[in-house]
Amino acid sequence: MEKENTVCPFCGPLAAQAKESLNGSYRQYDQILRKLMELERQGRMELFAGDCPLEDTDAVLDAEQHYTVCHYVRCRRCGALYFLGACIRGAPVFRRVPDIRKENLGTRLWGRCGTCFLQGKS
Ligand SMILES: [Zn+2]
Repeated sequence: MEKENTVCPFCGPLAAQAKESLNGSYRQYDQILRKLMELERQGRMELFAGDCPLEDTDAVLDAEQHYTVCHYVRCRRCGALYFLGACIRGAPVFRRVPDIRKENLGTRLWGRCGTCFLQGKS
């Protein structure tokens, strides 16, 4: 099932990375975050749903206003969704999202950024 995804030229490298645990490494989290921002700037990925814009993540975490910062990012080519989450008192997470409907966006996210929410408004 995931075979075709690893060859996607946009998000293939991310898919490979999503299979490996971050092991609580915020250095890796940071690397992935920067990669996602780069891909977003290039128009390859889009922020599908998130607590804040990707580039605001550092500021939000530094301010410790929220315990978690979550982002769902979608590949514009193959439509694959990825979840990147940081938790002030816990380990960061990066994984693929098989079914966005099971993610409980409404309760997981405290913010309303991304194309998912833009589409809901007129
Ligand atoms: Zn892709």
